[in-house]
Amino acid sequence: MKVNRVRTLRARLVLWTMLVNALLLVFLCGLAWVVLRQLQSRQLDDILQLSAAQLASAVDVTGGQLSIPAGDTEILTARGVFVWLLDSTNRINATIGRSKGLSAPALDIGTIRDFQLGPGDNVRLFHARLAESGGSIIVGVSLQSLVQTDQIFVLALGIAVPLVLLLSAAGGLFLAGRALAPITAITAQARRIHHDNLSERLALGGPRDEVHDLAQTFDEMLDRLQSSFEAERRFTADASHELRTPLSLLKAQISLALSHPRDAETLIRMISAMNDDVDRMTRLVQNLLALARSEAPLDTRQPVELNGLLQDLIQQLQAIADQRHISLALEESPQAGAVITGDAEQLARLFMNLLDNAIKYIGDGSGNVQVRIAPSEGKRCAGWVTSIADSGAGIAPEYLPHLFDRFYRADPARARHTGGAGLGLSIAQAIAKQHEGYITVSSQPGHGSVFKVWLPARTGNAAPKK
Ligand code: ADP
Repeated sequence: MKVNRVRTLRARLVLWTMLVNALLLVFLCGLAWVVLRQLQSRQLDDILQLSAAQLASAVDVTGGQLSIPAGDTEILTARGVFVWLLDSTNRINATIGRSKGLSAPALDIGTIRDFQLGPGDNVRLFHARLAESGGSIIVGVSLQSLVQTDQIFVLALGIAVPLVLLLSAAGGLFLAGRALAPITAITAQARRIHHDNLSERLALGGPRDEVHDLAQTFDEMLDRLQSSFEAERRFTADASHELRTPLSLLKAQISLALSHPRDAETLIRMISAMNDDVDRMTRLVQNLLALARSEAPLDTRQPVELNGLLQDLIQQLQAIADQRHISLALEESPQAGAVITGDAEQLARLFMNLLDNAIKYIGDGSGNVQVRIAPSEGKRCAGWVTSIADSGAGIAPEYLPHLFDRFYRADPARARHTGGAGLGLSIAQAIAKQHEGYITVSSQPGHGSVFKVWLPARTGNAAPKK
């Protein structure tokens, strides 16, 4: 199908080349014809006027009768000129050449005009007055040379146009073949690429032209496809792995419980452990669903007031924070009306994940978590920035670039202890992106971390006020 399209393109290129060349040839020939015609016509006029002037000075007048000397007659005949010599009563006194036996055509003195003396017999005549004798002369030449020029042009076009069409077809085919060869190669290579050999690239060599750019863009698209395929593969493997562990534990506990008759107390202990594993799996599945939902486009948009949303979340977490002697507070914001347009439930999930982490990773002992909303400017995200700063252990710089990757735990041993699967931050980042924002993190090991959520202001009252 694609090959056919390339062939059609080649045929179109060839046809265009032929058409352009033929039109160009016809135009140039036409131009040459017009110029040559003008030159020839002017030359004929010159011959007529020159001959008339020559005759006017040579005509003899004897007894009222006009005559032309034999020498001049010869010269004019050799020039292809014919003449009627008329006296003052317009009676023919003498003729030269083919005008013998023909009556003189009616023509005003001083004018040049074309006449048809017979079928296909076109001539140009000039009527001049003879000042001394009172008579006049009509000088004429045949227009045969103009007809011959026309014939030569028609013949030349008849031969040249098919020849040019033939040559342009051959040249067009050759050039189109050369120009489209890389595209044919790209098509063939693109056909070979499937999900199982996504690492193959076109890697087109040659000069840096439009086709090279096309191939490079295609390769870059393959890079992106490959990395997203690999990410999906990794994600599926990680998700399976995360589910397999609690499932194997559950299976082992069930087998153990069924292996002997047990007393009620032992059974309750065993079932309670199984319940914990089921809870872990439920949390994981809920997180996977949340991630899938966060990576889809937003389906609801409503104005969300950030201050109110964060106050509610802080209230929900207050008991846990108090229990751990952590002060959790939203800094009094001088800016009123921090409103963004989005999904309140999703935004609550985003901030809950960050607040939950902040409390979770402060560890044992007291600490504080400060939440602050401020207007943000700049090209990337003009709206609101919410920072969540904790006084926890912080994150080592080498972990920071991967923090938002799915299933990534900066400190697996500690994180597993806290029950996280490494999905909280990727869900938060996905929700921020869903709202056309993003999250950044900075951390000082030993002093704490600051997560900043940049969300763009939207319609109406959402614009930040200074
Ligand atoms: P988890 O479910 O393991 O908490 P997250 O995606 O929420 O997964 O976080 C990824 C990792 O980032 C965590 O395992 C933790 O090591 C680190 N982390 C996240 N928030 C903080 C924080 N406020 N302080 C220190 N480390 C953090």
